[in-house]
Amino acid sequence: MMIKNIATADILGCKVHLVNMAEAVQIVEQMVEDGQNGNQVVTLNAEIIYQTKKETELQRIINQASLVTADGIGTVWAVRVLGYPQKERVSGIDLLHELCTRGATPGWKIYLLGAAPGVAEKAGQKLEESYPGLKVCGSRNGYFSKQDEDDIITDINSKSPDILFVALGAPKQEYWIDQKRAALKVPVCIGVGGSFDVIAGFKKRAPELFIRLNLEWLYRLLAEPSRWKRQLALPAFVVSVLKQTYGRTN
Ligand code: UDP
Repeated sequence: MMIKNIATADILGCKVHLVNMAEAVQIVEQMVEDGQNGNQVVTLNAEIIYQTKKETELQRIINQASLVTADGIGTVWAVRVLGYPQKERVSGIDLLHELCTRGATPGWKIYLLGAAPGVAEKAGQKLEESYPGLKVCGSRNGYFSKQDEDDIITDINSKSPDILFVALGAPKQEYWIDQKRAALKVPVCIGVGGSFDVIAGFKKRAPELFIRLNLEWLYRLLAEPSRWKRQLALPAFVVSVLKQTYGRTN
């Protein structure tokens, strides 16, 4: 579905829709109601934007997605510094929770694909407990081989979810959704990174204070020091965005 009348930002050649959480939820709801299959939703963080400088295929995927939200303080900062109207952060896990809230009453069906064996199932139980009315129609871990993919798609299609949440980590999940969305009979596919681990209770999300101070990235770095390599992209991202800003005004 092409969204009309929603302004977009251009950050290093990647489109980002200028939407807040309420607007993002409304757009996804519209997609579910329209029932047209194949919409991809990306919650875009700075590391991924920076990665597109080397991976043009990833940039293509982002730019053809039906909805791209600003995830992470880096993306939100870039939107502002490039002079677009400031928008709040719309992260994958927050969007997932908001959509579960929205989908509880109409009884939306969701399918959870990703994370280690048992995690998606546990996350599904927790979501059904937290959002009575919501139906988790299926779940599957994210460690599968190419040969398993036809079975996975058959299973998903047989359960006809309204939304498929894919938690394979970014950008693996973005590539996977792009490759499979034509075969999937699902209106909306959303990449949600490590969300299932948090929902199932196997990983902690940053404390509220860190989130409020825009320091969730720091918490994640301290909790998982192996992330430092990915986060090295952040200073380079900042420099590139400043060059884009400079290039525009001069
Ligand atoms: N994962 C998976 N299959 C894979 C690789 C990763 O299901 O082949 C899962 C992993 O178990 C974890 C998530 O993908 O639940 C990645 O989480 P991470 O926090 O690294 O993702 P990010 O939020 O940074 O995109």
